[in-house]
Amino acid sequence: MKLIAAPLLLPVAAPPIRDGAALVGDDGLILAVGPLRELTRTAPEASTTFHEDSVILPALINCHTHLELSSLPPIACDSLFVEWILEVVRRKRSAAPEDFLRGIKNGALECLRLGQGVLADVTSVEGAERHYPEEGPLVAHFRELIAPSPEGVEMALERPKDGALPKSAYYGGLFAHAPYTVCLEGYEKALGKALQKGGRLYTHLAESLDEVEFALTGGGPIAEELYGNIPVNPPAATGLHPVDWLARNNILGENTVAVHAVNLLSRHIEILAKTRTSVVLCPRSNENLGVGAARGRAILDAGIRVGLGTDSLLSAGDLDLWKDLLLAIDRYGWSPAEAIFAATLGGAGVLGLLGERGALKAGMKADIIVRGLVAKGTDPWEMAAASQGTRAVYLSGRETCSA
Ligand SMILES: [Zn+2]
Repeated sequence: MKLIAAPLLLPVAAPPIRDGAALVGDDGLILAVGPLRELTRTAPEASTTFHEDSVILPALINCHTHLELSSLPPIACDSLFVEWILEVVRRKRSAAPEDFLRGIKNGALECLRLGQGVLADVTSVEGAERHYPEEGPLVAHFRELIAPSPEGVEMALERPKDGALPKSAYYGGLFAHAPYTVCLEGYEKALGKALQKGGRLYTHLAESLDEVEFALTGGGPIAEELYGNIPVNPPAATGLHPVDWLARNNILGENTVAVHAVNLLSRHIEILAKTRTSVVLCPRSNENLGVGAARGRAILDAGIRVGLGTDSLLSAGDLDLWKDLLLAIDRYGWSPAEAIFAATLGGAGVLGLLGERGALKAGMKADIIVRGLVAKGTDPWEMAAASQGTRAVYLSGRETCSA
């Protein structure tokens, strides 16, 4: 048994604790969380590590990454959305298989170093999922599906075959790339297959105005520049906003996760809430690609389950989810408590890990991070949000890395 303690501890599922500690059992589960003084009395035999000038939090949950892209050369941030996608396609085509595999491994370890205990990662390269590091964060793995026309759906679903996952990863479900690259049959079959295997359906949704224009009219930069430069037939225009289209076809629901959700009218937010669709917001990616800011305030107020994601290193610039948390406070008008919740327990809700991860509570995994306190304020959530640098990361109670 051990006690991990600091001047401030945020269990997230309960109010902050000054001079708090987590009592961790030898099985890697949390036995109790509370004031250090009390827990020392309860478990006098436990060894204590007190982290000076630090705040203890649950490990972060990064709800959207493309780790396989982590080792590809960066793309200038001033690219427009479609130009950026074309650049990604070009970089992927000129990369060697080992570039993707190195990205998976190094990207996962970098996320861990930055305090992330769980990642929802999507891959498109065959066999990439076998390369998540055994000693890395827990990875919910999703395979990407691109299938613009019905004839290609079966093949896209069958190949590549799902590879064996290392013990640090599990089947998260399928990732239908986006409404401009996946036809209705693709969405239907991907959802059916993911549910059948106990997973979820992820999709990029309403990321750019180009996507909305393409859905409504079949025209615009996606038709002209994207499909004009790749030898593939685009899906037909639906005449509907992508959220209306997926809702009408029963693709939205509590096992569906919409990533980005930037270009929404109020009624689309209502639809996502009513269908209990989860949303993953990626503030820095949206900012860097110039697609606008999601209506994070309204999405949260609608009662939607919300997590945060970095998106790929190519759009975010790095894999530091804490920066997304800070940008969410700035752009969405979230309180520090709301942003920290989204990056931890909110993400656990999106991935179906409630009761297991995302908070510091008896019975949950001791996935714990320690960050440096710099601000001497009175509000513990503000102090935590202003914290700098990940000083230590524990997975199942075991220290994995410290700065
Ligand atoms: Zn993405």
